[in-house]
Amino acid sequence: MTAPTIPATARCNARPYLHGVEAAAVVEALDAGQYGHGEITEAFERDVAAFLGVPDVVAVESGTAALHLALLTAGIGPGDEVVVPSMTFCASVQAILACGARPRFADVDPDTLCVSGRTVLDALTRDTRAVMPVLYGGRAVCLGGVVGTLAERGIVVVEDAAQAFGSRHGARKVGASGEMTCFSFGPIKSLTCGQGGAVVPRSLQDAAMLRALRMLGIVQPQAERIRSTTYTVDRPGLRYPMSALNAAIGRAQLTRFDQIEAKRQRLWRAYRDALADIHGLALVDVDVNHTVPFNCVVRVLNGRDRVFADLRGQGVGVGVHYPPNHLQPAFAPWYRPLPVTEQVAHQIMSLPFHPAMDEQAVTAVAAAVRAAVQR
Ligand SMILES: *Cc1c(COP(=O)(O)O)cnc(C)c1O
Repeated sequence: MTAPTIPATARCNARPYLHGVEAAAVVEALDAGQYGHGEITEAFERDVAAFLGVPDVVAVESGTAALHLALLTAGIGPGDEVVVPSMTFCASVQAILACGARPRFADVDPDTLCVSGRTVLDALTRDTRAVMPVLYGGRAVCLGGVVGTLAERGIVVVEDAAQAFGSRHGARKVGASGEMTCFSFGPIKSLTCGQGGAVVPRSLQDAAMLRALRMLGIVQPQAERIRSTTYTVDRPGLRYPMSALNAAIGRAQLTRFDQIEAKRQRLWRAYRDALADIHGLALVDVDVNHTVPFNCVVRVLNGRDRVFADLRGQGVGVGVHYPPNHLQPAFAPWYRPLPVTEQVAHQIMSLPFHPAMDEQAVTAVAAAVRAAVQR
């Protein structure tokens, strides 16, 4: 049997997916002449809050900015330690360093590539002030019994849900847990603004703090400021607003998010079925009924680098997410041995996964993976 050829959509690992309505929304925003933080940004915040079922959402420039501001709002600064999995995009760790705090790397559960209550507990020290679970691949993270311990010790939870927009924890959307939750709306995220991010605040105070911090420490809301002869800068601040142009893309995307969710779930199930029974390969599982899958990750139990090169040689858009952070030169001062992360780091491989693909593309990739693993 000859293997099906690799379709063009499977040649990249991930790419933005546009429904077509985004272009008109951007033109409308361009014509309105308000490109910075503006009414469209605020409308996007209300739309996202309604979607998540939360009172408020603060939109910012990126997921990294969301994490940075959420940590600052939680009072994290020099001398503090933030528990974070090593198995994440380096942005999570850089947001911690940007606050002047230190990362404390945690190991992950090999079945989910997320931290668990046990790995978080194992990482806590006297200096831990925050825990940043990363919702790898869109998976909701449950810290279980550890939540009580964290609360007793005054340790805040700031969720890195950059990959988990739309996923649910039981009946509740990720972001509606009462903790501060950060999303990314970057180019390849499930909902894209081109660039963007958001924080779900815990309280009115958090929301006011986040809004001042993202706008150079200016206290007054934009609408009030432009009608006044003055404004007040009452704290250090950053320049992290979400442009109206990006918000316009996000608003248009949100109206079709049910299609994105259904498509991502369908593709993930198609991979699960097509990859069953490959000796030496394990799918990193996901509760697909509650998740908007961000990626499809397998563990090649032996010879990942060979299989990766074989597939890349055929033009299949495989990737590795992520090289562990605790082994990066920039984060060497905070190295600690993490046996599971170090083992899975040599096994994981992300398959092409984005909504422009179809089941036929999944079948072709799965056939190529099967052949490569067995070669
Ligand atoms: C994408 C991503 C980020 C950063 O978001 P940006 O919008 O790219 O700044 C942070 N953490 C994780 C896990 C991500 O996937």
